[in-house]
Amino acid sequence: MFIDRDSYRRIVDDLYDGLYLVDRNRVIQYWNKAAERISGFTAAEVIGKSCSDNILTHVDRDGNTLCKGMCPLAMTIADGKTREAEVFLHHKEGYRMPVSVRVNTLTDADGNVIGGVELFTSRSSSRSIERRIRDLEKKAFYDNLTRLANRNCVENELQIRFEEQKRLGVSFGILFMDIDHFKEFNDTYGHDVGDLVLRFVADTLVKNARPSDLIGRWGGEEFIGILRNVTHENLEILGNRLRVLIENAYITLKTEQLHVSISVGATLMLDNDSSDTLLKRADMLLYESKRRGRNCLTIG
Ligand code: GH3
Ligand code: MG
Ligand code: MG
Repeated sequence: MFIDRDSYRRIVDDLYDGLYLVDRNRVIQYWNKAAERISGFTAAEVIGKSCSDNILTHVDRDGNTLCKGMCPLAMTIADGKTREAEVFLHHKEGYRMPVSVRVNTLTDADGNVIGGVELFTSRSSSRSIERRIRDLEKKAFYDNLTRLANRNCVENELQIRFEEQKRLGVSFGILFMDIDHFKEFNDTYGHDVGDLVLRFVADTLVKNARPSDLIGRWGGEEFIGILRNVTHENLEILGNRLRVLIENAYITLKTEQLHVSISVGATLMLDNDSSDTLLKRADMLLYESKRRGRNCLTIG
């Protein structure tokens, strides 16, 4: 024996599948943690009870109760044969839970049948459905390449900030940012290196924004920052800080350090703004930064 009893116990306790042991009278003697999770019944609630005592009350697909008659455990204890079945157990909260069960005998050292073991696994697809919903949410709101909020998410956030400013007077401003001469960069170093640049620009923006700010990818090499609770001066300072950090960020390709810069248009939401007028103004200010020679911020 290379492991002790306690280790065995822990392995059985922590199995992913539900497992319980019964004696020859089908009185439950052991009930592992997964059995608790899948059925909702704790070990304390079921140990000492007979599994035909209206606890799990397995039914088959036609609704026939198995516990009093064709219970796989009872049959296996009687004939010593392993069984598998698809049944529906009674969850403590009332619903029927689809499970696959495997039943085997429990024997003593002399090979006498002293009870049975039932291993059961959830057949419910709700977990995979939940996972799929989360994946869809991610797709709906996040940009794959940069892991930033995508345009859809930024538009939602803008709407929320609009309401917040109108109702509660919480001001916000936006930074419209665009990488300079990025087409030329791609043409020189290739699209894959360009993608790496988009990532480090995105990471620099996110890691240096305040917790209440949202940074998103608007499209291609364009980013938007939505900054809450800012004054004109603050917006300019924060925007310029991000711009300078990007100017000083780089990746190394062979021995060459690759840098890019961004141009920024910065503006606060005004009382008579819609999201269209706000974005148009930011875009014009960005254009002004490009016209002034790039790697600068224009606020208005
Ligand atoms: P400007 O300074 O005036 O902004 O010049 P620019 O070259 O950055 O602007 P332009 O709009 O002409 O080009 C944008 C470039 O961004 C073109 C396109 O290849 C690149 N780009 C857009 N999306 C991606 C992407 O996902 N990955 C890579 N590598 N490049 C992208
Ligand atoms: Mg652009
Ligand atoms: Mg550009």
